[in-house]
Amino acid sequence: MLCEMCGKEVVATARVRLGRAVLSVCPACAKFGQPADPSPTAGEAPPPLVRRPLLSAGARTGGGGRRLEERDLYREIGEMELAPDWFKRVRAAREARTWTPEEFGKKLNEKKSVVLKIESGGFHPPDALVRKIEHLLKIRLRAETQPSTPS
Ligand SMILES: [Zn+2]
Repeated sequence: MLCEMCGKEVVATARVRLGRAVLSVCPACAKFGQPADPSPTAGEAPPPLVRRPLLSAGARTGGGGRRLEERDLYREIGEMELAPDWFKRVRAAREARTWTPEEFGKKLNEKKSVVLKIESGGFHPPDALVRKIEHLLKIRLRAETQPSTPS
């Protein structure tokens, strides 16, 4: 029999679970997985896709350690929903005015590095700065779903 992991010819393979896959592997490779039930009662039924905590977008109340970090980040930026391409809008509008990142930064009272971070999407500006940017560039950065308050 061949080990499905390293391809070595062995007398007997063991069935181990690696993530969602169950492989027949040699004893050496068996260490890398968890032992799978040698006589599965339900045959080769695929594992049910019930729990996908990372992909459940709306699970704000779900108690998961991994979600906390993200929620805190949202809290930090003040719950303001920005459009998916908000940073591209910033850059496009800034370039349309032929302002350098430095010039734009001065108008915002921010450093050039902050402007560059914003335009790469690596920095979520606080609400006040979002409004400043919108005002300066005469653009909207917030998601369409957000009710727009006339200023
Ligand atoms: Zn092996």
